[in-house]
Amino acid sequence: MMITLQQVIDWLKELNIVYTEQKDFLSKLDSDIGDGDHGVNMERGFNAVVAAIDTTSPADIGAVFKTVSTSLIKSVGGASGPLYGTFFLRAAAVLAGKPEVDLVAWTAAFEKGVQGIEQLGKAQKGDKTMLDAWLPALSVLKAAGGNEIKEVLKAAASAAEEGMKATIPLQAKKGRASYLGERSIGHQDPGASSTFLLLQTAAGVLG
Ligand code: ADP
Ligand code: MG
Repeated sequence: MMITLQQVIDWLKELNIVYTEQKDFLSKLDSDIGDGDHGVNMERGFNAVVAAIDTTSPADIGAVFKTVSTSLIKSVGGASGPLYGTFFLRAAAVLAGKPEVDLVAWTAAFEKGVQGIEQLGKAQKGDKTMLDAWLPALSVLKAAGGNEIKEVLKAAASAAEEGMKATIPLQAKKGRASYLGERSIGHQDPGASSTFLLLQTAAGVLG
């Protein structure tokens, strides 16, 4: 089984719908421990992604990811824009020229993408950021063995969901929420939540 160019495009279009539906939820999470714009940022970013894909019709998965990266970096003002943009830019380099990919290539791209987020944001597991959702999902992908793509992506999304929920009792060490110190405890991280939605939507559409 493979992940195809068309599936990747369908995933990003579905994600635009999901972020539009979840805009108020994500912004509410961000108003608890940040500046309340995360939902607006994700909606604006993925509106721009879909518009750019529709105008440029990228010919392979690497080209799609590059378009995603550029659109997010250009349209999102918050910290999350460059962080998600870097994920897609690093992953794009692994997927250049590929009209379809297997789980091994997908995992390699995903790993480079997560490393890009780590390098740019300098956060670690447990710092109450989006990485608390990305890192457990990456572990599942790397341990996939010969399992079917769909099953692995579902397991990765479940791991991201657990990581997202596990941010609630944490104190933020990076980003705007860290300015709150101990007052950041008891709230779910907005970026970990948008990452979970991204991976849950991927599991629904890809493979
Ligand atoms: P801003 O904080 O600039 O308003 P957003 O509200 O769009 O940007 O995004 C906030 C989210 O970005 C946080 O919930 C967190 O998950 C993520 N984030 C912030 N800083 C970092 C970082 N240094 N490393 C990883 N993720 C981060
Ligand atoms: Mg914010």
